[in-house]
Amino acid sequence: MKQLIAGNWKMNGSPASAKALAAGLAAKPGAKCDVVLCPPAPLLSLVVAAIGSSALALGAQDCHANEKGAHTGDISAVLLKEIGCAYVIVGHSERRADHGETDAEVKAKATAALKAGLTPIVCVGETEAQRERGETASVIARQVSGSLPDAATAANTVVAYEPVWAIGTGKTATTADIAVVHFNIREVFKTLPGGSGAGALRILYGGSVKGSNAQAILATAGVNGALVGGASLDLEDFWRIIEATP
Ligand code: PEP
Repeated sequence: MKQLIAGNWKMNGSPASAKALAAGLAAKPGAKCDVVLCPPAPLLSLVVAAIGSSALALGAQDCHANEKGAHTGDISAVLLKEIGCAYVIVGHSERRADHGETDAEVKAKATAALKAGLTPIVCVGETEAQRERGETASVIARQVSGSLPDAATAANTVVAYEPVWAIGTGKTATTADIAVVHFNIREVFKTLPGGSGAGALRILYGGSVKGSNAQAILATAGVNGALVGGASLDLEDFWRIIEATP
């Protein structure tokens, strides 16, 4: 299966840096994986122009569950699709923490994304406290079954496993731990209505992935790509991750 490398720029960048990063990546030779850039919403149109006719795809960092209406400050999946997005991240742990997003809300957002023709990248991951209590498997199972849309299939949805304690901290899970969690995610996915093709589900790992550790992580059983935060803001480091895909 072709791996997917997604760059989550979070609330970083300016028009000038976004243009330089997207154009720099677009000028690189073709990658053997799929690559998606997820800039802050005000930079989406600028990045889609900089991507041009390259193979890079555009993604957003969040969407609203409704198609339109009185939701000041929110963005619909329909509009994201219209301006050129192919993907949208939903349920990132920073949104679950900062905005109290529940599994049910994440599921509603992912459902809206699918309806609009976007591929949702649905994030799940345990906190450090949950991990220390030995709850990783149960937390992940609850998040996967509670956050994925009923219409999710391996072809239309991506899952990202991001242990909260590994995001932006420089700590990464061991490849053995990552393999176990990705195996469990696939097993839970199999039990969902559209789970029959679980073998083809793309499950990304996220949490302090960088050029120096990407090769080992991306070669781990059950890992089908990476969701990259900090390192996606550095053209050459992000490119090293892209080049590390098997
Ligand atoms: C993320 O934001 O999804 C992420 C994994 O961040 P970082 O790579 O910086 O840990």
